[in-house]
Amino acid sequence: MTKFPTDLQKRLVSLTRDLILIPSDESRPDDIERCFSFIINHLESLDSVVIKKHCHRGVTSFVVLPKNMDHPKVLLCGHLDVITHPDSHSYRSHIADGKIIGPGSGDMKGPLAILLEIFMNLHTKHDNLHLGLAITSDEERGGDSGMRFLFNEIGLRCEVALVPDGGSLNEITIEEKGILHLAIKCNGHSAHAARPWLGINPLERLVDAVYRLREDFETLSKDKDHWHPTCTFTTIKTPNQTVNCIPSEAEGTVDVRFPAPYTTEQILDKICNLLGNEIDTHTIMSAEPTQFTPDPLYLSVSEEITGKPTIQKKEDGGSDARFIGQHNIPVIVSRPIVGELHSLDEWIDINSMETFYLIYELYLKRKLL
Ligand SMILES: [Zn+2]
Repeated sequence: MTKFPTDLQKRLVSLTRDLILIPSDESRPDDIERCFSFIINHLESLDSVVIKKHCHRGVTSFVVLPKNMDHPKVLLCGHLDVITHPDSHSYRSHIADGKIIGPGSGDMKGPLAILLEIFMNLHTKHDNLHLGLAITSDEERGGDSGMRFLFNEIGLRCEVALVPDGGSLNEITIEEKGILHLAIKCNGHSAHAARPWLGINPLERLVDAVYRLREDFETLSKDKDHWHPTCTFTTIKTPNQTVNCIPSEAEGTVDVRFPAPYTTEQILDKICNLLGNEIDTHTIMSAEPTQFTPDPLYLSVSEEITGKPTIQKKEDGGSDARFIGQHNIPVIVSRPIVGELHSLDEWIDINSMETFYLIYELYLKRKLL
């Protein structure tokens, strides 16, 4: 039997597909601004809210709060940036097998469409609703000038934050690993490759260091769930272009993930010791591991709407939720059913978008009305 899409599904699908068409990635700042304009054009039709733009180090964010209310009870949080695909024509979508397929559909233009729709609908129906919305544009590059800036420097606060950027429909994320992104660099001494004893090869030193790190981190692996620190080399390069020349310098990048109770300081110390003093280390980005405490009301509402138990899960990747959780604010990280994230075939399941909307709607009604 064919199931016809509901009006709500139609609205969510068209809004998501409109958002996907705008290639709002880091390399296209004009499109990031265009995507914000598109969203603000919708939000401006609400009389009961104040829209405030923030800009930090060239990164734009918007906070939308009810009039005369600085600290809403519930804050909806999203990001409109997507990862970069080289061809701007790849930012389009199609529908197949009950899914919207296209870059950014799951992370997180589909969830963002749900946030906008629910925010608009509830504020239209109810006056003085304690519901805010924050939208940032740098989540895919660490969130430092977006969500971190809003909470740590602007002082944005709420009683509960909803971040549909992890987990799944019945899977609530309760813990995220910490992150350390390092640039490592080694200087050597250039020489003709026929007389390697006259040179010091920084590329070989860097490769040796890779082995030391790998051997050491392998001793930390303990279970099949991989809930232990991992260390992965992601780039390695040298300016040298010549086959018979020993390079004078070499550099690379390392991505390290680690669960609590490890701290960034401990992990960094460990890595510096293993690399030795011939290799310089520079921290590109770091984040402590975070644990979240989801609102029990949300768990029970999810179970009521889906008819299935919720599972509390640990997540290897990090999200903007950590900047909120740091302030001991309960954060709920769950989302519709998504897949193939960060690929051109990224998708979001349309039925689960509607179910997710209904979970948010019932939760917000019970929490706020
Ligand atoms: Zn995301």
